[in-house]
Amino acid sequence: MGRVAIVTGGTRGIGRAISVGLKNAGYKVVANYFGNVDAARQFSEETGITSMRWDVGVYAECEAAVAKIAAEQGPVEVVVNNAGITRDAVLHRMSPGMWEEVLQTNLTSCFNMARLTIESMRERGFGRIINIGSVNGQAGQYGQVNYAAAKSGIHGFTKALAQEGAAKGVTVNAIAPGYVDTEMVRAVPPAVLEKIIARIPVGRLGRAEDIARCVLFLVADDADFITGSTLSVNGGQHMY
Ligand code: NDP
Repeated sequence: MGRVAIVTGGTRGIGRAISVGLKNAGYKVVANYFGNVDAARQFSEETGITSMRWDVGVYAECEAAVAKIAAEQGPVEVVVNNAGITRDAVLHRMSPGMWEEVLQTNLTSCFNMARLTIESMRERGFGRIINIGSVNGQAGQYGQVNYAAAKSGIHGFTKALAQEGAAKGVTVNAIAPGYVDTEMVRAVPPAVLEKIIARIPVGRLGRAEDIARCVLFLVADDADFITGSTLSVNGGQHMY
């Protein structure tokens, strides 16, 4: 019987590739989404993967969803915190709302989902939590103080929680993608995108599948010695 895996923001973009990769590897996957009902319906029809709507930034909604999934599918053993948004502006034009929304969806969501699943993981002696960070959380990015702060926060969250879970078989790792060809990146003006690609030594944007393969590597049962790490997947754009 496959392990139960939740992928937040799992119906589009990088999350979709992660959901499909996990399903193909034998996991029982529930893919979360929030606003785009049509994309989720199409995703479920095409892949046969259950999709479920809730706001990852709201604790009570996460709580209800995790309880439902555990009751219907079994205890949650894998969580991929992938849902994320951008609300870009230079700081002197950024509203408090733009700051709060990005922190809530990208960072508080990791607390919500980990908090609600970690007790059961600890009791069972097995758990895998993967948090999707960003090269922009590692290096910073003009116009993204909110996003860079949230993603940078994910990297600290990962290292702290990894220490807490280590003795109980719960590993916690982050993946820091570079620029990946999804709707989030397609929203970047073409002239800016051209400049970004010119700075990627591999010479192309990442593919969602490039990230999904790293998730599969990190969630494997025999990846139990890898915890607290950040896997950078950025075509050589940023190394440190
Ligand atoms: P997309 O915009 O393509 O997809 C985002 C997903 O997150 C969607 O499924 C969306 O749901 C979901 N989502 C957004 N807000 C919420 C919410 N409040 N509650 C639940 N789900 C929500 O993003 P990408 O695939 O490009 O990005 C995935 C992750 O990778 C993000 O964390 C992003 O920050 C990170 N990343 C992306 C990079 C890139 O170049 N694309 C680079 C580095 C990191 P819905 O479909 O309903 O809108």
